[in-house]
Amino acid sequence: MLLKYIHAFKDIIYPPLCFACERKIQEGYLCPECQDKVEYLFPPLCRLCSRPLSYKNSYLCSGCIGKKSPFKRVISITAYKEPMTKLLHLFKYKNYDYLGRFLSHLMIQHIERIGLDLSCYQAIIPVPLHPFRRKERGYNQTELLAKQIANHFQIPLRNDIIYQKKDKTSQTKLKKEQREKAMQGVFIAKESLKGKNIVLIDDILTTGSTLKECALTLKKRNTKDIIAITLSKTLS
Ligand SMILES: [Zn+2]
Ligand SMILES: [Zn+2]
Repeated sequence: MLLKYIHAFKDIIYPPLCFACERKIQEGYLCPECQDKVEYLFPPLCRLCSRPLSYKNSYLCSGCIGKKSPFKRVISITAYKEPMTKLLHLFKYKNYDYLGRFLSHLMIQHIERIGLDLSCYQAIIPVPLHPFRRKERGYNQTELLAKQIANHFQIPLRNDIIYQKKDKTSQTKLKKEQREKAMQGVFIAKESLKGKNIVLIDDILTTGSTLKECALTLKKRNTKDIIAITLSKTLS
């Protein structure tokens, strides 16, 4: 009871603010306007990079046709623009780890909305951070997303399979081809995944080179199908 009053009092002195535009809100994380601005990605999308397609019966975008991919499918949930850019910045770099619950909820809702069936997958794996980065940040934001998704769909979370050996943060300015080359050997997978179907989780899909290298590392451990789900995707 006392706690309830303390919370009510706190809301008068510090009313909750929208995380994107800082307007006062009644509850939650976003004001209704910012909530409406979240751009969810609906099919038809390219099956390998989630780029919106203009023709309903197309499967791949022009950039993915004829290219080899370790993925059965790559699904991004939202476009990487406001308010997602702000939320992800806070989530990744400003210690707002508790935004993980809200952001994973957006992912879960959309997975269900588009009818993506995850029942044939045996493990959910977050893209790992280098141990140094993880220590510096105190958490791996992708793991926080993966954990909630794994709980919701009752699929084991496996954050003990793949590790990052080399720090890759200095590669952000490289071009796509250079970046893919620089990524080679960044990850190591520690156990056999023979015949297993895997869901890889990441926060933002930009060039896709990190996700791809992760999937290639898992493939070496004899996985069956790998799909990737990312919270956001840069669209250009
Ligand atoms: Zn707002
Ligand atoms: Zn594509």
